[in-house]
Amino acid sequence: MKFLKNISEDQKDKILALDCEMCGNTRPREERHLEKRYVLKATLIDGHGNIIFDELCIPEKTDEDMKTDIHGITKQDLQGKQSYLDLIEKVKVLVKDKIVVGHSLDADLKGLGYNKTEKKRIPFEHPFKLQRDTAERFQWTTGKKRPSLKELAKNHIGVTIQEGIHDSKEDAFAALLIYAKYYDSWEISLKKKFSMPFHCELCNVFCKSKKVLRSHLNGKKHQHNALLAGSDESSSDSNE
Ligand SMILES: [Zn+2]
Repeated sequence: MKFLKNISEDQKDKILALDCEMCGNTRPREERHLEKRYVLKATLIDGHGNIIFDELCIPEKTDEDMKTDIHGITKQDLQGKQSYLDLIEKVKVLVKDKIVVGHSLDADLKGLGYNKTEKKRIPFEHPFKLQRDTAERFQWTTGKKRPSLKELAKNHIGVTIQEGIHDSKEDAFAALLIYAKYYDSWEISLKKKFSMPFHCELCNVFCKSKKVLRSHLNGKKHQHNALLAGSDESSSDSNE
């Protein structure tokens, strides 16, 4: 809990940690497009550490693999529960304009994705600028592969999670604490990224405009680094 002190009181109201439990098939990375995951449960924890939402729903597809061995939720638990559409609607209202913290958020947003107007599954849209993903943030720690939340929790906040079944409250809280621990540096680096969207990966230089990036690319420092790296095509525009 001590890490939450790093976040100012007024900011705590603007933060929600999200974690979902899903049913459906999971596929290896190269077959991700075949993956089908349906939300069974969603949990939201605010920046003060309060659980503000923790509800089950009947998933879009009921004949899918329940994955009870992962999260412990059985078909019986879902009897009389709300539909996934009602749950998604509630989550949508709660997270509007909030900073959403989580681990591999894209998977949760995909599972929560259903567009009522278009009557089809599309990833839940939450502005990228308001997402804080611990899997993305610490990607470099395992050589470009995403680290697991279990690893991150152990190494960064000294907490053991997912010992038995996964608990979305425990996972959301762990992601929140990791974010809180690095709150200042994380937010500062994002501000830099968003205010200076042009980035030279080779030199790790951030620029405000394409023009400034171009002059960097023609400059001595970059030319020198490019020579050392044996390439002059290492720059990229990242506009995310
Ligand atoms: Zn450069």
